Amino acid sequence: MLKRYLYNTDPEVYEILLKEDKRQENSLEMIASENFVSQSVLEAYTSTLTNKYAEGYPNKRYYNGCEYADAIETLAIERAKKLFNVNFVNVQPHSGAQANAAVFLAFLNPGETFLGMDLSHGGHLTHGSKVNYSGRLYQPIFYGVRKDTETIDFDQIYQLAKEHKPKMIIAGFSAYPRILDFNKFREIADEVGAKLMADIAHIAGLVAAGYHPSPVGVAHVITTTTHKTLRGPRGGMIMTHDEEIAKTINSRVFPGIQGGPLMHVIASKAVAFGEALRPEYKTYIEKVIENAKVLAETFMQRGMRVVSGGTDNHIVLLDVGKKGLTGNVVADELHAIGITANKNTIPFDPHPPMITSGIRFGSPALTTRGLGKDEFKKIGNIICDLIENINDETIKSKLKKEVEEITTQFPMNKFRLD
Ligand SMILES: *Cc1c(COP(=O)(O)O)cnc(C)c1O
Repeated sequence: MLKRYLYNTDPEVYEILLKEDKRQENSLEMIASENFVSQSVLEAYTSTLTNKYAEGYPNKRYYNGCEYADAIETLAIERAKKLFNVNFVNVQPHSGAQANAAVFLAFLNPGETFLGMDLSHGGHLTHGSKVNYSGRLYQPIFYGVRKDTETIDFDQIYQLAKEHKPKMIIAGFSAYPRILDFNKFREIADEVGAKLMADIAHIAGLVAAGYHPSPVGVAHVITTTTHKTLRGPRGGMIMTHDEEIAKTINSRVFPGIQGGPLMHVIASKAVAFGEALRPEYKTYIEKVIENAKVLAETFMQRGMRVVSGGTDNHIVLLDVGKKGLTGNVVADELHAIGITANKNTIPFDPHPPMITSGIRFGSPALTTRGLGKDEFKKIGNIICDLIENINDETIKSKLKKEVEEITTQFPMNKFRLD
């Protein structure tokens, strides 16, 4: 129905998109960085603003005809400011990686040193991986977690900062299940004269709803995606309290690394921020955290090892190495019974990133779909049953049916929490 034009004009594309709709409907989405946007977010995303070139910023554009582009970008900015209680926002980054690139360009010259979290301990590609611009153009130094607690090692960060005098320190992660203490990061940054960048790509929704300490007013600059826990369209955003930093950031986003902003995406971001400002969103985030906790507890009750012994956020990192398995094998077997998650390195992983000892699970998407504690417990048990019977085809087909029962019980967009 929604794609009636495509159905007639381009059945080839229509067919594939329909299959993707069905894939999302018929599987349990547990990739921690994914979510399901509302119909309103999707509608704004498909608006005619995709036709508009609006290089520049509101009331300072290069082309004419930007009156509504200005109105929508201003609205997105105002809502984001309210949502995060921050003075300056740039909503133009096309993605989280682009947001980070703009900050690197603002704070560092090529070849200069920064401190970021090791990818294998939970960091992100853009925090210094050698296959990424951040590691190719700049000099990364990595910190990690302590071996005993698997929580961030501030003594190590302090020592590395003293030794290497980085120009910037990044506080942020893609696979870390605990709360970040931004104040401790800032103390260390101040002591060595570094800028602090908080990358809240994963936890933005928790921060907005007040369930994770906010880096606003603590970090010099904050980057985020808008499509993870924030449940908006695919995109990025940069925030700061400091007017001078804001000016530099704006010029690094455009013309620094981007051309025309994706105005339809910015419209969709405005809608998502509007949703996140509603009380229902707070309830949603509460449930995201609650459901992740139930999942972690179910794993541990079944004798599985959960990295750091639990979770404070929406992420659960399961160590399947303890069961003699690898992350890639378990992720593929999960996929075969209808559960989508990703292989992930765990701290001090003996395996490389394409193999790994871990699986990363997240609760945001299924919580949006309306699943609660009972279902997360059920799913936790299904996952444990699978891991314990990884070569048993009879049990695996039984588990696949159990997954099907849950997906049919919770049709997309029927029980969803908007
Ligand atoms: C997801 C993520 C990003 C990158 O976001 P993209 O939109 O995929 O470019 C950056 N930093 C962190 C910490 C992330 O988790």
